[in-house]
Amino acid sequence: MMINFNKPPHVGKEIEYIKQVIEKNNKLCGDGPFTKKCNAWFEEKFKTKQCLMTTSCTHALEMAAILIDIKPGDEIIVPSFTFVSTVNAFVLRGAKLVFVDIRPDTMNIDESLIEEAVTEKTKAIVPVHYAGISCEMDKIMEIAKKHNLYVIEDAAQGVMATYKGNALGTMGDIGCYSFHETKNYTMGEGGAIIIQDEKFIDRAEIIREKGTNRSKFFRGQIDKYSWVDMGSSYLPSELNAAYLYAQLEEAESINNNRLNTWNMYYQGLKELKEEGVIELPHIPKDCEHNAHMFYIKCKDLEERSNIIKHLKKNEISAVFHYIPLHSSQAGLNYGTFHNKDIYTTKESERLLRLPLYYGLEKDKTEYIVDKIIDFYRGTHK
Ligand SMILES: *Cc1c(COP(=O)(O)O)cnc(C)c1O
Repeated sequence: MMINFNKPPHVGKEIEYIKQVIEKNNKLCGDGPFTKKCNAWFEEKFKTKQCLMTTSCTHALEMAAILIDIKPGDEIIVPSFTFVSTVNAFVLRGAKLVFVDIRPDTMNIDESLIEEAVTEKTKAIVPVHYAGISCEMDKIMEIAKKHNLYVIEDAAQGVMATYKGNALGTMGDIGCYSFHETKNYTMGEGGAIIIQDEKFIDRAEIIREKGTNRSKFFRGQIDKYSWVDMGSSYLPSELNAAYLYAQLEEAESINNNRLNTWNMYYQGLKELKEEGVIELPHIPKDCEHNAHMFYIKCKDLEERSNIIKHLKKNEISAVFHYIPLHSSQAGLNYGTFHNKDIYTTKESERLLRLPLYYGLEKDKTEYIVDKIIDFYRGTHK
């Protein structure tokens, strides 16, 4: 029995809804009834001014960079410990990246280091809510306000997680979600842009529709549509939106199912943590997480390589995350690390992600816990 790292969720009504798109609605392109239902679901549930479904989180981030008018030479403050999409969106518009170190407890950008990285060229702070655990948003918003900066939340992993009761992605000026198959809720490939700042509402719709005001035309607000701004094709197909909508209807049960697995891992591995052998994720008191991920932190890179091998031998697929961007080829070209990299590289080398997906069986979770305990107790030798 090979235990995969991920298995995309399938909760039941996806096929029925996709059939409906094909046989009943006769509309496969974007902005059909399911796309609109998804938009409305987020707007209502997360109390946000506007949600627009997109073709990916990568594209939602690209839209954000266009909306805040990033120009060559502008600087953005971002963690180096993140996925490439967080920064590509801004690099495509000519921005320079200023990487700030992370906090070892949450792997999120260290809010206490942001202000010293601000220059007169800084345009935005881009916090990433790693593992669906929120960054210190109060502090980040306070710095942004003081220096007149935008905050773009990369909440790709943060759907259904909160900070002081607020949904991740709804606290900054713009938030971006991912519905890639590796995320908690999926449509294969897809995402959403969440708009809090009113001034972006009309323009977001235009950028998503190839720079045209076609959305207004379809609503009958204008009698012909034309090209009014720069833009691209960021509208997802109805087929994908139908898949996602089935999952949104079951969002609570998907969330609870994942949290159960997460808690099972935590309880099972607590003893190793208490002995100081490994570290486990830390959830700050203001944060409610969404069990996007369960990771352990080993001693170092070498121990991690050994445990990956040990788990693989036992048919468990466990993976690591991310090679810090500032040390990659493109990262060297497009950015600089502000001050010292104390934790980014060191902590990323220790991190190991365990299988976690909707429907991961209890006995498999226990088996994985046992194999990790085996490794540390030396009984595998
Ligand atoms: C998954 C992910 C993305 C990209 O999402 P896509 O929908 O695949 O474009 C961006 N940022 C982070 C932090 C992610 O985890």
